[in-house]
Amino acid sequence: MYLQELTINGFKSFADKTQIKFDPGLTGVVGPNGSGKSNITEAIRWVLGEQSAKSLRGERMGDVIFAGTDTRPALNRAEVTMVFNNDDGYLEQQPSQVSVTRRLFRNGDSEFLLNNQQVRLKDIVTLFMDSGLGRDSFAFISQGRVEAIFNSKPEDRRGIFEEAAGVLKYKNQKAKAQAQ
Ligand code: ATP
Ligand code: MG
Repeated sequence: MYLQELTINGFKSFADKTQIKFDPGLTGVVGPNGSGKSNITEAIRWVLGEQSAKSLRGERMGDVIFAGTDTRPALNRAEVTMVFNNDDGYLEQQPSQVSVTRRLFRNGDSEFLLNNQQVRLKDIVTLFMDSGLGRDSFAFISQGRVEAIFNSKPEDRRGIFEEAAGVLKYKNQKAKAQAQ
């Protein structure tokens, strides 16, 4: 499985619909300070279900919607779509191309789509929980996080490795079953 395409529309500094295509392997994103590099990684975390506005450098979730500039009015909707190549069947019971979309409107309405069908946040989180791509996973290391990981408590660090190893989903299911 690999990320094939990312489309960002109205999210943070991406006022215009912007499509980025990726090849298998390593991709580097370069650009001047403030040009939107971190916004790209935040768009990826957001579409995978990030629920913390603070971790997206905002106060509330609506802050991810393009807020306007001196020359452009604010927009009313942020939308991000990610398409994965799943030819190797890594995402089980999913087609060879898997698309995930998240939309947020200024009035607070929000939507998640999996392969263009409306789903719950939970469905997205569960699908990616074991892929190493979960929103809190080791796959995303933002500025300052490396240090945070090394300084974290052993229990918290263990959680990071558990997600990477793919056992977190089962632990969550077990905790839920025990609570019932
Ligand atoms: P650096 O090299 O300094 O890390 P960067 O390329 O990672 O920079 P980002 O942090 O991704 O840059 O982008 C910051 C820009 O995004 C700022 O100019 C900020 O004003 C803009 N921005 C953030 N949120 C919004 C929003 N909701 N609407 C419009 N612009 C936004
Ligand atoms: Mg940055």
